[in-house]
Amino acid sequence: MSDKPVHRRILLKLSGEALMGESDYGISPAVIHRLAGEIGDQIALGVQIAVVVGGGNIFRGAGLAGAGMDRVTGDQMGMLATVINALALQDAVERAGMTARVMSAIRVNQVCEDYIRRRAIRHLDKGRVVIFAAGTGNPFFTTDSAASLRAIEIGADLLLKATKVDGIYSADPNKDANAIRHEHLSYDEVIDGRLAVMDTTAIVLCRDNGLPLRVFDIQRAGDLGRIVRGDTTVGTLVD
Ligand code: UDP
Repeated sequence: MSDKPVHRRILLKLSGEALMGESDYGISPAVIHRLAGEIGDQIALGVQIAVVVGGGNIFRGAGLAGAGMDRVTGDQMGMLATVINALALQDAVERAGMTARVMSAIRVNQVCEDYIRRRAIRHLDKGRVVIFAAGTGNPFFTTDSAASLRAIEIGADLLLKATKVDGIYSADPNKDANAIRHEHLSYDEVIDGRLAVMDTTAIVLCRDNGLPLRVFDIQRAGDLGRIVRGDTTVGTLVD
């Protein structure tokens, strides 16, 4: 592993769950503070960091639809939930001494900027953490698909999917003691095996645009930095 970063511009996908910590709803201040610190360590190395945040810790459209709500309205609520998370992360990142900008795919421009690709790239070039909110701006999509899309748009050289498991396993490691972690998989192995890593739209976007994806455990302190410095033993690489 090098002591210098091997990546120039990274897109980190943080699910709503990743912000929850041990609770089953909302945002954990301790967790968001730690995440901001880890992001700051990478910025200090000169790596450009963009983040796509999910909203599952607050609302998911499909869940609301299951409870009888109109799906599109539910998805709009889900997208607004991601804006809430993005604002919390922006606050934590700025408290940690960096500059951050939330850019939303739907217009809520009294609280954050609208997403404009060229402006996002300009922020990144200036060393600002760019937090993409509101997913793709469209119902029936997920923030995983938004992460692939934004990563490709901004020319990220790696998409990092933060989860609570340290990679992709042959079986659920919490249920099967013989489950083994894959170090590497192809996009098609993930798609054909229906491995529950990201939704298929997200993986197909990565595949068709040659964007490598690494799945890793965000709860393990230091792993983000190890990936940035080229440690290939962390998590699972999909390319
Ligand atoms: N969502 C949407 N379009 C998008 C991204 C998200 O409609 O492009 C909605 C959808 O309802 C989703 C919710 O926002 O359930 C929260 O996003 P997601 O479930 O991807 O969050 P995560 O699982 O990453 O926390």
